[in-house]
Amino acid sequence: MEAQVESKKSRKQTAARPHPMIIAGPCSAESEDQLLRTASKLAADKRTDFFRAGIWKPRTRPGNFEGVGNVGLPWLQRVKEETGMKTATEVATTTHVYEALKYGIDCLWIGARTTANPFATQEIANALRGANVTVCVKNPVNPDPALWLGAIERISDAGIKDIMAIHRGFSSYGKTRYRNMPQWAIPLWLKKQIPALPIICDPSHIAGNRELVPHIARRSVLLGFDGLMIEVHNDPSEALSDAGQQLTPEAFERLMAGKFRNSSYL
Ligand code: PEP
Ligand code: MN
Repeated sequence: MEAQVESKKSRKQTAARPHPMIIAGPCSAESEDQLLRTASKLAADKRTDFFRAGIWKPRTRPGNFEGVGNVGLPWLQRVKEETGMKTATEVATTTHVYEALKYGIDCLWIGARTTANPFATQEIANALRGANVTVCVKNPVNPDPALWLGAIERISDAGIKDIMAIHRGFSSYGKTRYRNMPQWAIPLWLKKQIPALPIICDPSHIAGNRELVPHIARRSVLLGFDGLMIEVHNDPSEALSDAGQQLTPEAFERLMAGKFRNSSYL
């Protein structure tokens, strides 16, 4: 309880942002060329605050594309040098944290499978101590609000000031409309616990298909979310991960220009 109050106090310094925070880019870094092509289009549109790309991919089962690994870090550095956009990637181990910091990645996010494990989040928090980065904490795969809050507290207690939460929905068994159920009450509960904490919606992982992305993005805006994380790939149908849910840069631009009104912007 005390830690929670203390964390609340320190997060008051996280000022509300004047415009929605936009994190956009491919699910995975696949090649330097793919990153630069996607990034140059996003940079031209000037709406993206952080360019995202997964370097290490947590795959549910082995045998799928597990990310390019360390070789992709200089690609992200080049994106930053050439476009001026800040960069973001997922970290799941202390080695990921040290490597990403070495290459000047501006924002590290903790993925849903990692947030579900307090040992892992504590190790990451320890590795982050003293670092000057933005840290995003995705909700855990299971709908456990306290686990999400606990991971945020661990990062805050490690002295990280710039923290955001990312709502990416919750897994369920069986056929459902969404890849991950939004269960909006959970992020709204989190907002109530820590009003100063920015909460970003990730409609790509909630939807699981690009047609539903605008609908979920619009819903999150109406609910007062502070921004969006959206997967954008220069050639989504050829993507090595999450091909069905990534937008082309053009569709992303239409979505942003249309204030997320409806799927006709795709
Ligand atoms: C991702 O952002 O590509 C990802 C793997 O996210 P999540 O942890 O939400 O599944
Ligand atoms: Mn993805």
